Parts: sequence; C-alpha cells; structure tokens
Amino acid sequence: MTLYDTAVVGGGPAGLSAALHLAWQDREVLLIDRATGPLFYTLEKLYNVPGMPEATGVEIQKRLKAQARERGAEIVFGSVVSITGQAGDFLLAGAQGAKAQEWRARTVLLATGVARFHPTVDGDYTPCFAYAGKGNLYYCTDCEGPEIVGKDTVVIGAGPAEWAATLALGLTRYTPHVRVLVTGEDTAISPHRAEQLAERGIPVLQGEIKALVGERHDLKALELADGSRIAAEAFFVSSSARGRTDLATQLGVELAPGGELAKEWKIRRAPTPESLFSMASGIIYQQPIAPQPISASVIRAQLARGAPGRDAVREMMSPAVLRYIDQHHLYSDQAHQQDAT
Ligand SMILES: Cc1cc2nc3c(=O)[nH]c(=O)nc-3n(C[C@H](O)[C@H](O)[C@H](O)COP(=O)(O)OP(=O)(O)OC[C@H]3O[C@@H](n4cnc5c(N)ncnc54)[C@H](O)[C@@H]3O)c2cc1C
Repeated sequence: MTLYDTAVVGGGPAGLSAALHLAWQDREVLLIDRATGPLFYTLEKLYNVPGMPEATGVEIQKRLKAQARERGAEIVFGSVVSITGQAGDFLLAGAQGAKAQEWRARTVLLATGVARFHPTVDGDYTPCFAYAGKGNLYYCTDCEGPEIVGKDTVVIGAGPAEWAATLALGLTRYTPHVRVLVTGEDTAISPHRAEQLAERGIPVLQGEIKALVGERHDLKALELADGSRIAAEAFFVSSSARGRTDLATQLGVELAPGGELAKEWKIRRAPTPESLFSMASGIIYQQPIAPQPISASVIRAQLARGAPGRDAVREMMSPAVLRYIDQHHLYSDQAHQQDAT
C-alpha cells in the first residue's frame, strides 16, 4: 500500500487548496472526498470568490480540483470513517465507492467542513435541497445577503428563535422587509432582541412547515401545518451548523468547549511541525495550518465586542495567550458593560 506524505480528508475549497499547495511542494498527496460540500450543489453564481467572478459553486469546485490534479495531487471519491496510528504512519479506513478501502499516510490534514441543518418540511429535511444554493432559499448571510437587497424576506428559524431574530436584524442591512418564522422547539426570544425586532417592525410568526410551494428553483411560499401560507420573494434559513470533528476526536485532538476548534493546533501525540492538524474553518481560503502570532491590539478589539469576542478569544487562543490576557487584565469594563446591554 502506498505511503503518501499527506492524506487530505475533504475536497471542498479548503482541502483542494491544501492539496494543491502540498503537491506544489512536491509532496505525494492523496485527497479523499465524499463530495457533500455545499459548493457541489450550488448552481447559483458566486460573486465574492477572488479570481473567479460569477462562477457557480460547481464550477469553482471543478477548477480547484483540476488545478490540484494538474500539480500532481491524487484525488479519489471516498469516505473516511476511521483514522488510527500516529505521525509517520497513519492508517485511514473507509470506502471508495462501494468498496471498503484503506490508505496510509505520514501526515493527515482534516478539511471536513461544516454540517448545516436544513429546516424540516413535514418532518423531512430533503425538500429544501431543491432550492438551497439554486434559487431563493439562502443559508449564508455573508455570502448571500447581497442577493436579497430590497426583497420581501422570511427568515426560517429552524434552530433557536434567538438566532433567527439576530439573523433577521442583520438582514435589515440589505432589506427593510423582513419577517421571522419560528419553527423549532426553542421559541424563546430575549426581551432585548424582541425590542430590537419591534423597533424595526419585524414580525415574529410561529408554525410548522408542512410543504414548500414553488416552481423549479423558485420558492414562492411556505405552507404551514395550520393551512396558512407565507409568501415571500426570498427565504433565509437560520439553523445550527457544526464542524465535522469526529475524525479529529478519534485522533485525540482536544476540542474547545464549543466543540468545533482544536484547542491547540498540534496533536499532542505528535508535536512536530509536519503533523499539525488543520480543522477547516468553513471559510474559503482561510485555512490555518499553524498558529498565527496574535497581537494584544487584536485581542483587545475582540474583547471589546463583549461576550462573542470573549468566546472567540477563548476558543481560538493558545493557553499562553490566555495567560497573557489574564496577566494584563484585558477583560475590560467596557466588554462587561456590553454584555449587560
Ligand atoms: C448556499 C451556500 C452558498 C454559499 N455561497 C458562498 C459564496 O458565495 N462565497 C463563498 O466564499 N462561500 C460561500 N459559501 C460557503 C462555502 O460553501 C464554504 O465556506 C466552503 O464550501 C467551505 O469549504 P470547506 O472546504 O471548508 O468545506 P466543504 O466545502 O464543506 O467541504 C468539505 C468536504 O469534506 C467532505 N468530507 C467530510 N467528511 C468526510 C470524510 N469523513 N471522508 C471524506 N470526505 C469527507 C465533504 O463531503 C465535503 O465535500 C456558501 C455556502 C452555502 C451553503
């Protein structure tokens, strides 16, 4: 069995970029991917990917794959279910198509992306596939927010209602016509958020989705269990997403409390620079392989954001940086005040 220099698990933009760079550096690299990343299903044009204006997700995937292959990366369609061993000789086991398969590599790079949860329609999450990434059912505010400028938009709260409320408020940057539909069990919205929604005239509706009403790639309305219909020009999903960290966990990577980021970038059993693990960030071209030096001013800016900034600091910083924060009393009063409001 070939012993590759690196096995990359995951062939979205992060994994393909990593494979390209490794191949360019003359490493023998194998990329294993089961092709479930969002861009494989995104037929809409993306406008914010550098160097590829107006390419669809599918085209972006194709181009990244072709470039990595051209440089010598070997790419296979397969699924990895377990990784054992240690730096120098990892054994990856899974399936290539219908056939059980094993691969060996000196180092492993995980670029397995993020799993997103779709809203359920009469208990089934698959009806959303007909519209996600293809028409007017959106998931990613950063990527897709500009698509809804001025449009009558419904935020489908498939996770906690508080998140849906926050997303709706954020979308008012693009359109004043926003409503929230809370579908999940967690219907609580904090008084502070409720006040902000009221100030901006955002109504909050509640109900279970019974059917999606639309034509090819164009969602027109949500039919609710009580028979009513909510029509809109655009629909935005608010739901939870989680990093696919199962393989990292198997290898003993210690995760931060949020469960998504490696607490330290190094796997403890193999603290050599070559065996640094990367948890794909879910952001194209943002693919940290080694810890970045972080200045005090960056930490201060994060902490000034209040609770979210503090969580980010806790999850992303090394113990040494956290000690630095404590020693320099960087949890400012301003940060605490922002929490309280
Ligand atoms: C609807 C939508 C629109 C978007 N639009 C934009 C946009 O306009 N611009 C932009 O920059 N970003 C956009 N994004 C975000 C972008 O798609 C993601 O940031 C990007 O795909 C993340 O890349 P990734 O490589 O980290 O993960 P992914 O693309 O999720 O790739 C991970 C890959 O790993 C594979 N995998 C996971 N586990 C295993 C395993 N055990 N074995 C084998 N393979 C495995 C998965 O099948 C998947 O193919 C959009 C996202 C969505 C959902």
